[in-house]
Amino acid sequence: MATIGILGGGQLARMLAIAGAPLGQRFLVVDSATDACASQVAPLLTADWRDFDALADFARRIDVATFDFENVPAETAQWLTEHTRVFPNPRALALAQDRLAEKNLFREIGLATPAFAAVDSREDLARAIESTGLPAVLKTRRLGYDGKGQAVLRTPKDADVAWALLGSAPLILEAFVPFTREVSVIAVRSQTGEFRPYPLTQNWHSAGILAASLAPAPHADALAERAFAHARALAEKLDYVGTFALELFDNDGELLGNEIAPRVHNSGHWTIEGAICSQFENHVRAVVGLPLGDTSLRNPSVMLNWIGELPDANAILGEPDGHWHDYGKEPRAGRKVGHATVCARTSAALGERLARIARSLGREAQIDPVRAALAR
Ligand code: AMP
Repeated sequence: MATIGILGGGQLARMLAIAGAPLGQRFLVVDSATDACASQVAPLLTADWRDFDALADFARRIDVATFDFENVPAETAQWLTEHTRVFPNPRALALAQDRLAEKNLFREIGLATPAFAAVDSREDLARAIESTGLPAVLKTRRLGYDGKGQAVLRTPKDADVAWALLGSAPLILEAFVPFTREVSVIAVRSQTGEFRPYPLTQNWHSAGILAASLAPAPHADALAERAFAHARALAEKLDYVGTFALELFDNDGELLGNEIAPRVHNSGHWTIEGAICSQFENHVRAVVGLPLGDTSLRNPSVMLNWIGELPDANAILGEPDGHWHDYGKEPRAGRKVGHATVCARTSAALGERLARIARSLGREAQIDPVRAALAR
C-alpha cells in the first residue's frame, strides 16, 4: 500500500482516488482551492503550486506524485523529482505544455500534423498566414485547454483582432483541418515499459469542449493500429509512465497529431464501465508499480459530458448499463460538472438507449451525431 500524491484536485484526481481505493492505495491531493472536488473523497492539502514549504510537507507524506492537471509549473514538477518519485516525468509534462515542442516531436516520430508556424510578433503572424494558408487557428503555445486561448482566422482581416486578443503570449498558427472526425488514443505504459492502448475512441466537441465520446470508434481497425503505433513511439520517446491521451484528427484516413495530454483524459472516462480495467485504475497501477490491467473493451460505450449543469439523472439511471458521475461541483457556465456512460452489448442496442436519452433530456444536438456514427 502506498500514498499517492496528486497535484490538482479536480474530477480527474477524484476518479483516480475512487479507482485506487480498492487496491488499498491512499491519496493526498494538493490544490489551492479549498473546495476542490477531489477533497470530497481524499484528504486535501491547500497550497499554491509555488509554495515550496507546503510542497516539502506534501512530498514527506507521499510515496509517489502524479498530476490531475498538465499545467503544473515545470519548476514545481522538477523540484518534486528531487524530493519524491514523480510519474509521468517532468520532461513529458513540459513537452505537453508547449504546443510547438509537441508538434515538432510528432513530426520527429513520423506523425503528420496540420501545417504550423511559430508566431512571436505581428510580422511573424503575417508570414505564418502565408505559409499555412487560411482558414487557420491561432493558439497560445502554453496554458491552453478546452479551446481556451484560441482564435480562428478566416480572412486576412481577422489577423488584427486575433493578435489583439492573444498577441501578448508566444503563439502557434495551425492550418484549420477540415477533418472527417476526431479520435483519441488512451494508453498506459508501465515502469517496465509495457504499453497497452484502449480501443480507439471517437470524439465530438462543442465550442472547443469535449461533448461526447464513442468507443470503439466505428470502422477504424487499420486507423487504430497506426494510431497505437504513434502513441507507443511517443510514450517510449518520453519514457512515459502512467495513462495518457493522444488526440488525433482523422482527415479522410490520414492521421494528424493535435495534442498529447500527460494524464488520464476526458475521452477515456468511458473505460470506467466500458473496459475491463479503467484508465484511472491503470494509472494508479502504473505509478505504484503494479501489473497493468486489461484495456480490452467490455461493451460498446458512449460517454456524454455534462457542461455547466447536470441534467436529470433518471434519464441515464433508468437505462440498463447507464452510469452517472456527479463530480460534486457547483454549477458554472463552461465547467465540467459530471458525465454519464451508457454501454450495451451491441451498437444497435446502444443506439436505441441513446435515442431515448436524447429525447427525454432534449439533448439531440449533443447525442444525434453519436447515434449517426453508430448506425453507419
Ligand atoms: P485543442 O485545444 O488544440 O485540442 O483544440 C480544441 C478543439 O478545437 C479540437 O478538439 C478541434 O475540435 C478544434 N481544433 C483545434 N485545432 C484545430 C485545427 N488545426 N483544425 C481544425 N480544428 C481544430
